[in-house]
Amino acid sequence: MVPRVVFGQGSFSQLGEILLPKRKNADAPFIFLVDDYFETKDLVAQIPLMFNDKIIFVSADEEPKTAQVDALVKLIREEYDELPSGIIGIGGGTLLDLAKAVAILLNNKGLAENYQGWDLVNKPALYHVGIPTISGTGAEVSRTTVLLGPEKKLGINSDFTTYDQVLLDPDLTKTVPKEQWFFTGMDCYIHCIESLTGTYLNAFSQSYGEKALELCKEVFLDDIPASESRDKLMMASWHGGMSIAYSQVGIAHAMSYGLSYLLGIKHGIGNCMVFQHLGEFYPEGVALFKKMVEKHDIKLPKGVCANLTQNDFDVMVNVALGLDALWENALGKDWKTIMTPERLQALYQKI
Ligand code: NAD
Ligand code: ZN
Repeated sequence: MVPRVVFGQGSFSQLGEILLPKRKNADAPFIFLVDDYFETKDLVAQIPLMFNDKIIFVSADEEPKTAQVDALVKLIREEYDELPSGIIGIGGGTLLDLAKAVAILLNNKGLAENYQGWDLVNKPALYHVGIPTISGTGAEVSRTTVLLGPEKKLGINSDFTTYDQVLLDPDLTKTVPKEQWFFTGMDCYIHCIESLTGTYLNAFSQSYGEKALELCKEVFLDDIPASESRDKLMMASWHGGMSIAYSQVGIAHAMSYGLSYLLGIKHGIGNCMVFQHLGEFYPEGVALFKKMVEKHDIKLPKGVCANLTQNDFDVMVNVALGLDALWENALGKDWKTIMTPERLQALYQKI
């Protein structure tokens, strides 16, 4: 679990105080990996830079890649004689995952792709701080960083992945465009549904999942004031992330990984594109999802898989079916007899 967390509107102003005792010396900088959306925004002036600290702006247009992590690590190693005092990730799931991975690789030898999997990291990561600017993924609290590698899209799952400190300032999410707010928020909602209906469910996951689901319903179905809604979605993301920490996600995530791998479709929107067709597996969850789509007048892309070749489908089906734990969580031990490659392809064809 994340050992330290600050929550509150305006709490970003405390970042300087939080970092100060963690500074090793004047030669060991803090490196801020910041979503390039903020490059021209006021937030940059509030980043508490000292000595040789550095801001690196990173685009979130594409999801994080292992090669990108390796390049950032190389850049930081070449520029400084000493290892940094810490890495601070500021942005959505993309930046939060990148910062986690960079912190791990700065203290572990080799390439990021060597660590994709479960518990392959040997040494603690550098001190790292996560500051979400959009709510829903739970990346701020999870023990994974999802990376697209040369062979697979897979997380670096380890006890060293988790942030040492998280700062939750709901004000940072004020500027998120509506569609993106919805898609990333639905990532949280789908985490809840997949966790709560899964065979891996236990009291730990259930307690967080139920709270997150309740908050999602308030945010996406009730008419609550915007500032309250931002607070609640940030806490929903946290609880949703905690819920899957001790269980698993399910079919929407498995299929969305396939879409992302083949077509580069991003996590939030990909989950939504899939989830609308999963009524036979998650009847109540999908019905409520459709209400939310309607209430917020969200248009999901259509015909995305219309022109794919059989080879394309095979690739997506293989990526998705490779995620055993997700299927077992969703469908039980006999999942292979339930979700055949043909049935999965038919689901993809609906998208
Ligand atoms: P994102 O980080 O990809 O950002 C989406 C868009 O929102 C980008 O264009 C970004 O620039 C913009 N944005 C972010 N904050 C903004 C703000 N305050 N104002 C205006 N625009 C803003 O989106 P996401 O949905 O948060 O993250 C998706 C990523 O998270 C995927 O790579 C996925 O694999 C990962 N993920 C990780 C975990 C985990 O546990 N590690 C869980 C779920 C998803
Ligand atoms: Zn997700």
